[in-house]
Amino acid sequence: MNKEKTSKYFTTPIYYVNDKPHIGHAYTTLAIDVLTRYGRLLGQEVFFLTGTDEHGAKIAQAAEKSGKNPQDFCDEISGLFKEAWKNLNIDYSYFIRTTDKQHEQKVKEFLTILKDKGYLYEGEYQGLYCVGCEKFITEKELVNGECPDHKCPPQKVAEKNWFFKLKEFLPQIEGLIVSGQLLVGPEQAKQEVLGLFRQGLDDISISRQNVAWGIKLPWDENQTCYVWVDALLNYWTALQQEGRQYLWPADLHLVGRDILKFHCIYWPALLLAAGFSLPKQVFAHGYFTINGQKMSKTIGNIIDPNDLVKKYGVDATRYLLLSQFPFSSDGDISLDRLGQKYNSDLAKGLGNLTARIVTLAGKISIKGSVEASENKKLAEVKNNYTQALGKLNFYEALSSVWDLISYCDKIIDTEKPWENRENSQQAIAALVVYLEEITKLITPFLPETSEKISQQIQGGKSVPLFPRLP
Ligand SMILES: [Zn+2]
Repeated sequence: MNKEKTSKYFTTPIYYVNDKPHIGHAYTTLAIDVLTRYGRLLGQEVFFLTGTDEHGAKIAQAAEKSGKNPQDFCDEISGLFKEAWKNLNIDYSYFIRTTDKQHEQKVKEFLTILKDKGYLYEGEYQGLYCVGCEKFITEKELVNGECPDHKCPPQKVAEKNWFFKLKEFLPQIEGLIVSGQLLVGPEQAKQEVLGLFRQGLDDISISRQNVAWGIKLPWDENQTCYVWVDALLNYWTALQQEGRQYLWPADLHLVGRDILKFHCIYWPALLLAAGFSLPKQVFAHGYFTINGQKMSKTIGNIIDPNDLVKKYGVDATRYLLLSQFPFSSDGDISLDRLGQKYNSDLAKGLGNLTARIVTLAGKISIKGSVEASENKKLAEVKNNYTQALGKLNFYEALSSVWDLISYCDKIIDTEKPWENRENSQQAIAALVVYLEEITKLITPFLPETSEKISQQIQGGKSVPLFPRLP
């Protein structure tokens, strides 16, 4: 078997350690976890990369504010991300940190390649810089003189920087995106990126003069690598660290809409300049509000994923986060609705159905077999599920499984198999087959529950899966 043909390489963005993990991070990371588990069930080798982005002025400031040195501060927050992913049963292959010595070394090597190839030049940068965004900002982007995202005035910066010849690569990248060789999804995100080419883009500065907390340029130690270039390179350096170069390029970079420009324009340009192949797909998921409001410290509505796990359990949290609305759309997470959905879909839906079928089948020890009509229903569900996951539509994939759950509930309510077991053997057999199928389909989303249901089917004894919440 050819290893390359069956292997996949998926990434989340690496998360900025200026603050601890919230459910936005969890949402993105869970999505890749589901795709990873799904791929592995199909027999693929899947390398799932996540990690933390730890350099830059913003981190140095946050560290200072909390009275710690930057490395200690990064160790602490990075540890919180690892802990949260453990609590959510996230099965990543590798967790990269941009303060890893090997990453720093590889970033230097990459920058040296660009310099040797003549794609970097020295220049004077004058402009406005938002520390909150860690990016240069134009007058046009300001609202009342302030960064619209951070509600604070940008800094005026004039300094010597190293620039990357971005403009040389723009026509080629635009062509690759238009032709679909570099897939950008969903369509709305693709149009947003193509709009950026039409607005026009300049060469970018890839170094900073007065940011000490970063990777020094090997040929100019007064300059540190621009934190975004440092961060993007994690997708390449991680494979080098792990001896997995054969997985290159990434099959999917999952991102939020706010970082499309970096992933769909800067990143491909850097790779083209170095002579490396490009990722196959960049996909931007939607944003959500909490009870109708943007998640923010000021409002105080930031949700810690660990709190959800404490309240609902691991698998229920995984289900609740990905079943709210389609992944590529924006949506709202209402805390009341999470509780209602837990009770309706998990306690009552999946949990109750499992108990009913296991109890029925256990009593008369039936082994499942199905007729053609039932196979048709299963084929339809599996087809919808596969199609949906192919488009990263977790909501649709789960809906198709929950459609099968309601279908089974209807069979039980109509046939009332407990009233006449002798005549209901066929119906019960079919129900067992359906439940086995449901168990398989939920595995990437609810891995522990799937395991528990399999054990209950085998043991013929029902144990409550999701206790009803008050
Ligand atoms: Zn900003």
